[in-house]
Amino acid sequence: MKQEPATLLIIGGVAGGASAAARARRHSETTRIILLERGPDVSFANCGLPYHIGGDIPDRADLAIQTPESLRAMLNLDVRTLTEAIGIDRAKKEVRVRSLTDGSESSIAYDKLILAPGASPLRPPLPGIDSPLVHTLRNLQDMDRIKAAASNVSHVAIIGAGFIGLEMAEQLHAIGKQVSVIELQPQVLPQLDAEMVRQLEITLRDKGIELILGDGIDGFETTPDGIAAKLKSGRNLDTGLVILSIGVRPESGLAKDAGLDLGPRGHIKVDSHQLTNDPDIYAVGDVCETEDPILGKRAAIPLGGPANRQGRTAADHIFLGGKALPYPGSIGTAIVRVFDQAAGIAGWSETRLKMEGVAYQTVTVNGASHASYFPGAETITLKLLWSPEDGRVLGAQASGKDGVDKRLDVIATALRGRLTIDDLAHLELAYAPPFGNAKDVINVAGFAAGNIRDGLLVPVASLSGAGPQIVDVRPAATAAKRPVPGAKNIPLPDLRARLGELDRSQPVFTVCQMGKTSYFAARILANHGFDARSILGGAHHQL
Ligand SMILES: Cc1cc2nc3c(=O)[nH]c(=O)nc-3n(C[C@H](O)[C@H](O)[C@H](O)COP(=O)(O)OP(=O)(O)OC[C@H]3O[C@@H](n4cnc5c(N)ncnc54)[C@H](O)[C@@H]3O)c2cc1C
Repeated sequence: MKQEPATLLIIGGVAGGASAAARARRHSETTRIILLERGPDVSFANCGLPYHIGGDIPDRADLAIQTPESLRAMLNLDVRTLTEAIGIDRAKKEVRVRSLTDGSESSIAYDKLILAPGASPLRPPLPGIDSPLVHTLRNLQDMDRIKAAASNVSHVAIIGAGFIGLEMAEQLHAIGKQVSVIELQPQVLPQLDAEMVRQLEITLRDKGIELILGDGIDGFETTPDGIAAKLKSGRNLDTGLVILSIGVRPESGLAKDAGLDLGPRGHIKVDSHQLTNDPDIYAVGDVCETEDPILGKRAAIPLGGPANRQGRTAADHIFLGGKALPYPGSIGTAIVRVFDQAAGIAGWSETRLKMEGVAYQTVTVNGASHASYFPGAETITLKLLWSPEDGRVLGAQASGKDGVDKRLDVIATALRGRLTIDDLAHLELAYAPPFGNAKDVINVAGFAAGNIRDGLLVPVASLSGAGPQIVDVRPAATAAKRPVPGAKNIPLPDLRARLGELDRSQPVFTVCQMGKTSYFAARILANHGFDARSILGGAHHQL
């Protein structure tokens, strides 16, 4: 039977909270739905904030997807902006709130409560961190402050080379700023495996962006011209403006004080309907941890898609009870554009699988974004990870100029459907020359993975893992242009005739430009009795 609480109170009026409110209203015209928001705006496009700073989204108003007035008019919501929830009394089923306009406090009773307060940018307690020149980006006001501050400086330091840090680097470069990006890890985009972001790093440096990798921040110091970021390496980086984008912390203080169960990193624990350990309190979005459906572990994934869909899930459970569909967990599909490059991930990376001690196999293949004979085709590099036990896909990363999003979305669907490498080999994807390939790079990854499982391809992950006998099977001119160190060049068409030049007592490591011809060469060699191994991804990926 349909349940209709008299009052549904929602804390947090952006991605998760506004989605929950809208879905709730579609279930009931009688429930009083109160949306509390600490800031002045509701339901704005956080993900679009960097693009207004750089001018891709010229009109600020486009970021305000809804306003309090539009939510009142369309959904009959009781929207209270500039109102902060400061305490939850679970016994009385009341939330204490403070008006940020006049400081007055009052209590609001609820029948059901949804917590959607999100996560706040990390600001570690470093010396000088409170300088007005050190900014974080979460809402429209942060964006306005950064945009105004950036107009007066020539150089900006971005701390943290994750998705938001790289978006900001691109956008600040677009408005003519000199940009330095400082990242503690020895690579940009540490969510991806190192070799998958090499091209992004090259592109960033080619654009004149300074990458300071493997270095952290010890603090900040005011200088006559601005601020100096003091790096762990001892370097002092003089800049006019600092943007911190080093991660987020769940805003779970209210939940903790109310005795709700939290996970090890402070996220609110919820079940598959987003219900906390209180039967009348739900939590959605960046503040909560959920299930990773790939390996069945707990996962806290601060992304827009999960927040929106979790909000919907919570509202469904409030009104439909046991009939509501559960939230299936988050797999962490993410993508970033950096100038003409894109890179992204769905599911687990090799680095994380290693850290968790999970058995995996991996292959990296290159393919064209659409038929290579049709103008405009670009190379996509796809790294696939799967379980050696049953061939189930565990994750993938893709990089390139075009079609990266489409391949990641296919992998995300495969992860959700628990597909295997053999399923990928036979996915029937949309193909006409301007759009794809008869054998898409996704199919090719499935073929290559199957070849590894069946022993037809003995892979070597990198050139550094190759032994002394390396054969470069690219055409002589290509090999001469960008030689593979220590390799003997025998172009593929000559290989059968020149087998006598190779030492049969030692393994032969084949390499080519994109990873495909070296596989063909390794098959020729194996069929002639050699111990042949193919270097994955080719020189394109390795040099
Ligand atoms: C710059 C930027 C770019 C991003 N880009 C992407 C992207 O490209 N793709 C992607 O998937 N994700 C992206 N994200 C992440 C995505 O925006 C978040 O995952 C998503 O907004 C989380 O939704 P949420 O509802 O949990 O929290 P939020 O959307 O942050 O909303 C929480 C709201 O709750 C309010 N609040 C908190 N505490 C209280 C309280 N006590 N009382 C009243 N109100 C309170 C806060 O003011 C806040 O407005 C980006 C985030 C940022 C900041």
